[in-house]
Amino acid sequence: MKMLAQSAPPDATRVLGVTDVDLSIPMLTFLFGQANLDGPIAVVSLCRLHQEFYGLPENENLLRERAVKEVLHELGHTFGLAHCPDPKCAMSLATHIELVDGKEAQYCERCGAQLVERFTSRGGV
Ligand SMILES: [Zn+2]
Ligand SMILES: [Zn+2]
Repeated sequence: MKMLAQSAPPDATRVLGVTDVDLSIPMLTFLFGQANLDGPIAVVSLCRLHQEFYGLPENENLLRERAVKEVLHELGHTFGLAHCPDPKCAMSLATHIELVDGKEAQYCERCGAQLVERFTSRGGV
């Protein structure tokens, strides 16, 4: 994330990195992604979004779908959204790939409204 911050163009509002490297926190757990809350940098790892990671045949469409959900999730954090209790919402916390698959590639009404509010209160980003 430091590297991303340094390589970000000065006029960028958000920088999102996508990596195939596993994002794990030693002793703790792994992450599908990470973001600065209300900050400019987010990163998503595709590593555990691959079916192959679970010993299953690769599925490009599924990978893309999962990646979109995680990108929405991390970008949501950069715009100040917290985790959402609605398991279908892109902002719900997924600690397991099945939870990612249970999400929809969109925000729930509440999170969507919060995003709109952020954009309008700042006069756009
Ligand atoms: Zn999150
Ligand atoms: Zn939500």
